[in-house]
Amino acid sequence: EALLSHAEIALRRAKETGDTSVFHAPEFAASSAERLTLESSLRQALEKEEFVLHYQPKLELLTGRIVGVEALLRWQSPDLGLVPPAKFIRILEETGLILEVGAWVLSRAVHDHRRWIGLGIAAPRVGVNVSPVQLHKRDFVDKVISALAPGVEPPGIDLEITESTMIAEWETALRVTEELDRLGIALSIDDFGTGYSSLSYLNRLPIHHLKIDKSFVDDLEQNPRSREVVKGIIILSHALNILTVTEGVEHEGQRDILRGLGADFIQGYFYSRPLPAPVFETFLEEFNGSGQIQAP
Ligand code: C2E
Ligand code: MG
Ligand code: MG
Repeated sequence: EALLSHAEIALRRAKETGDTSVFHAPEFAASSAERLTLESSLRQALEKEEFVLHYQPKLELLTGRIVGVEALLRWQSPDLGLVPPAKFIRILEETGLILEVGAWVLSRAVHDHRRWIGLGIAAPRVGVNVSPVQLHKRDFVDKVISALAPGVEPPGIDLEITESTMIAEWETALRVTEELDRLGIALSIDDFGTGYSSLSYLNRLPIHHLKIDKSFVDDLEQNPRSREVVKGIIILSHALNILTVTEGVEHEGQRDILRGLGADFIQGYFYSRPLPAPVFETFLEEFNGSGQIQAP
C-alpha cells in the first residue's frame, strides 16, 4: 500500500514538474498530505460559502473613466485566512471542482452586476476568468447563457481566457468564441505575451480586448526594449481593431509611458487593488456621482 501511494505521489510530481521520471522522496509525502487536506477543505468551501470575489477596476487612460472591472476569486478559509487563487486554482482544475466553482463565480459576478444596476449605479462590464477545464466542456456556452438569465444583458459580461488556453484548445476556442461573439459577450485574451505566443489566432478569433501581461510593465521605466515590445503589441492590436488593457500598473511613471504609447485601458495597484465586493460598491458609488463610469 505504501509503495503504491509513493508511486502515485511521484507520478503526480512528474506531471506537475513536467519531468518524465521522478523518484519518490520522503518530503513529498508531507506536501502530499498537505495537499489532501487542502483538497478536502476546498471540496467543502463552496457549500460553506467560503469563496468570495474581489473586484479590480479597469480604467480608460484618456479619460480616467472606469470602463470595466475584473472579478478575482479568493478563498476565505477559516484556518488559512484569505487564500489567493494561485494557491488553489490548480487543485480545483485537477479535481474538476473548477466546474462548480467557475459556475459560481459567473453567477456571483452576474448577481453583483445586477445589484449595482439595482442601486442605480452605471455598472461597468464585469470580466470573469475562465479556466481551460470549463472551456473544454461542451455545455460551456449554455452554462454562460443560463448564468446570464434573467437580468443581465450579455454586454454586461466579458470573459477572460488566457493566451495559452486559446492556443492549446484551438478548435474548442474557435467554436466557443464565435458562439459567445454571436451572443454579444465580449472576449479578452489574458496574460498576452507569456504563453507560446502565436499571432495567427489574433485575426481569426473575435477578440475585443487584449490584456498585456504585467511582466512587460514591470521594467517599462528602466528598459527601452520593453517599451518597444509594448508599443508593438498596441500597434498590432489597434490595426486589428482590438483594444488593449495593460495589467499590473503599479507606478505613475508606468502609467505615463503607457499613455504615451497609446494604450487604451490600465488595471493595477497604482489605481486600485482588487477590493472586496462591498468596498468596491462604495468605490463605484463615489465614482458614479462624478459620472466617471462607462456602462457597457
Ligand atoms: P489574472 O486574470 O491575470 O489576474 C490579474 C492578477 O494580477 C490578479 O491576481 C490581480 O490581483 C493581480 N494584479 C492586478 N494589478 C496588480 C498590480 O499592480 N501588481 C501586482 N503585483 N499584481 C496585480 P490574483 O487575484 O491573485 O489572480 C491570479 C490569477 O488567478 C488570475 O490572473 C487568474 O488567472 C486566476 N483567477 C482569479 N480568479 C479566477 C477565477 O474566478 N477563475 C479562474 N479560472 N481563474 C481565476
Ligand atoms: Mg484575468
Ligand atoms: Mg492576466
